[in-house]
Amino acid sequence: MTSTADLIARRNRTIGPYSPLFYAEPLHLVSAKGVWFTAADGERYLDGYNNVPHVGHCNDRVVSALAAQAATLNVHTRYLNERVVDYSERLLATFEPRLDRIFFGNSGSEANELAIRIARQLTGSTGMIVSDYSYHGTTITLAGLTTGLTTATPLDPNVRTLRIPDLDRDARPEAEVLAETLASLDASIASLQEAGFGIAACLFDPLFSTEGMPRLPEGLVPGIVERVRAAGGMVIADEVQSGFGRTGSHMWGHQYAGMRPDLVTMGKPMGNGHPMSAVVTSEEVLDRFGSRNEFFNTFAGNPVSAAVGEAVLLEMEEEQLMPRAAALGAEAAARFQEFADRYDFVRSAKGVGMFLGLDFAVDGVPAPELAKQVVEAMKARRVLISRIGRDESVLKVRPPLAFGPEELPILLDALSDALSDV
Ligand code: PMP
Repeated sequence: MTSTADLIARRNRTIGPYSPLFYAEPLHLVSAKGVWFTAADGERYLDGYNNVPHVGHCNDRVVSALAAQAATLNVHTRYLNERVVDYSERLLATFEPRLDRIFFGNSGSEANELAIRIARQLTGSTGMIVSDYSYHGTTITLAGLTTGLTTATPLDPNVRTLRIPDLDRDARPEAEVLAETLASLDASIASLQEAGFGIAACLFDPLFSTEGMPRLPEGLVPGIVERVRAAGGMVIADEVQSGFGRTGSHMWGHQYAGMRPDLVTMGKPMGNGHPMSAVVTSEEVLDRFGSRNEFFNTFAGNPVSAAVGEAVLLEMEEEQLMPRAAALGAEAAARFQEFADRYDFVRSAKGVGMFLGLDFAVDGVPAPELAKQVVEAMKARRVLISRIGRDESVLKVRPPLAFGPEELPILLDALSDALSDV
């Protein structure tokens, strides 16, 4: 087998050196099953990070559904086929009744791009509001509103950003933080209107994952939604990270956050690694957009994707992955809180369901280096996690939902040891 050093050199000569690799010594993987990876050196690693293999890496039901459908029929949606309708019905049944129509895509970026296109057409405006540390995808429009990842594309003139507060980092009274944030939103809306852009939509992840899972003032999300609507804008919930039961308590992050979006976008876990995404919306929105646009997306909603998506939902249901995420998530959160109480350098425990973190700070100053050391120390113990947040100081523990009660102690013990090491 190629040595790791050779592989990195060949990768640099082809894919290039700019697409980042995790870890000081990148991990060379060869296979995976369930929540376990096998590396080139034969070592097994526990996956405490990846949300795409939602029901488990190389899940039997998903792989069989994919292979069987690929061997039967795979064609675009301009012919009638039951699979995409069956799948749409099953997926839409997980939403509140108002959200009962779907457009399919192939990536989270495509879904967000379409949602913005719809909002711009239906409102006749172009102004966008996003959080000041967020990521929504790769297209030109999305690069023009990216604030949480390096991009040489400047913010588009029709974009305003909102600072999402974190009560764990802000000692002021909650009401004051809420009022300040909403006042800043009001100012952004006014500025978009004065500039003639108006407001097409606000776009955010209901869990604010990229931002580092801030603890929000009560009423912030509904407050944002209300103001954007009052100004004539639409509300897009980006559920690429927060959807499909990640919170344990709710299938969708917007339900958890108590918001009523006009458009919901999803991707990553939807196909367990098979590229697929969607925009879910209301009948009215679909009619208003669909009647004026012949919208056709070659690969989207094909029978193989539909079979895969359906297998993911069936697996979630049969294995009761959402209630399991709620139970294990609560157990893990209690331990994370213990860590926050025990160590001065852990400012707060973050997250919900199977999306948890610890925010590192020394004397009130974010400590990304400590977070990095813990991520590396976890890898040395064969457990994979990562870090997020505007300072990259928040551990990101977001395993496949198939994570089980046997694996949780392994992760928690490794974290306990890693924390006492650093
Ligand atoms: N939205 C969010 C919240 C994401 O995390 C990502 C991917 N990291 C995207 C959108 C883009 O999805 P994709 O990479 O599938 O285009």
